[in-house]
Amino acid sequence: MNLTQMVRSVYPNLTPYTCSLADLPVEEMKQALGLEQVYKLSFNENPLGPSPKAIAAMQQALTQLNLYPSSSGEAVLNKIAEKEGVQPQNVILSNGADEMIILVAQTFLEPEDEAIIPQICFVQYLASTNLMGAKPVFSPMKEDLGIDLDGALQKITDKTKVIFLCNPNNPTGTVIPADELRAFVARVPENVLVVIDEAYHEFADGDGYASSVELTRDFANVFVIRTFSKVYSLAAARIGYGIGQTELVDAVNHVRPPFNVNSIAQAGALASLDDAEHVAASRQNNAIGKKLLCDTFDELGLTYLKSQANFVCVDTGRDGKAVFDRLAERGFIVRTLAGYGLKSSLRISIGREEEMRAFVAAFKEVMQESDLPTIKN
Ligand code: PMP
Repeated sequence: MNLTQMVRSVYPNLTPYTCSLADLPVEEMKQALGLEQVYKLSFNENPLGPSPKAIAAMQQALTQLNLYPSSSGEAVLNKIAEKEGVQPQNVILSNGADEMIILVAQTFLEPEDEAIIPQICFVQYLASTNLMGAKPVFSPMKEDLGIDLDGALQKITDKTKVIFLCNPNNPTGTVIPADELRAFVARVPENVLVVIDEAYHEFADGDGYASSVELTRDFANVFVIRTFSKVYSLAAARIGYGIGQTELVDAVNHVRPPFNVNSIAQAGALASLDDAEHVAASRQNNAIGKKLLCDTFDELGLTYLKSQANFVCVDTGRDGKAVFDRLAERGFIVRTLAGYGLKSSLRISIGREEEMRAFVAAFKEVMQESDLPTIKN
């Protein structure tokens, strides 16, 4: 059997999900580092854990694991629709936002198509484009590392099928103001789909941000992606959703596997949507942690990007990998950004207040070490 001849022609462009230190579950991180205490600040997870209401609902769902889940997740669709002011047929569930990105790619991208992806953006847009054998076309970032919408417009050709945007953007945390996004969408040809990934939506409350669900009412070619992994703290349950006009949602539904979202995830999501207090507590924890981080960066004279998400991207002015290693020795795992050409930057997720206090103390210590190589992005 010659596997190299058997796999699809896109195979050379696909990479398995990496399992570097920053990608490991926390118990495996502890093992790898030989440490008892490890702070995982590399995944933009919610440190508060799921809502107690969601935990109770998921425990209840366990007793029915012999039964297949609802295929569409009707109860969850109804609740999301009510909350977002759309109809249930405008909503579709997925196995995390990750799967929704793949479903969109599978629905729309042919090998001859082009997908525009901002240069510094979540990696799964590229992975899904490659999966379909379509051509990724990178659009530039602005000087301040915001997404350059004019730059994206200039990349549109008659082969463009999809434009991926992330708002707030991962890994920068920056937002595209709502008025700019609306003006942009109005200039995008109607046969080009604009996918707006709002995984961090619930953390954003400034800098002109507004959800693009509003845009889906006016533009048939806008599709919004959300997740329960972040503010709702259900990352391991794997549930996300998309919002768009009925025809668009129906098209993606043709590709969706029959039981892509399990019943535990559906029960957890449903209960989470009813726990506004937990969302408020998560946002508050995030605001406190983010302030602690940013105050520390100010104190150290470091440049960082103003974030509307649950992480901050900071330019350490040193070799990011070296800073990463020294933080890891102390039990703090963050994310390097050298893959995006940001060799001196790190992305740090917001943990609990006490975790962030411990982190800033360790970070200050590391930054004082005089043998750290200084570099510029
Ligand atoms: N989109 C963005 C921008 C993300 O940062 C992430 C998670 N890191 C996802 C999608 C995937 O989230 P999920 O856990 O829902 O698959």
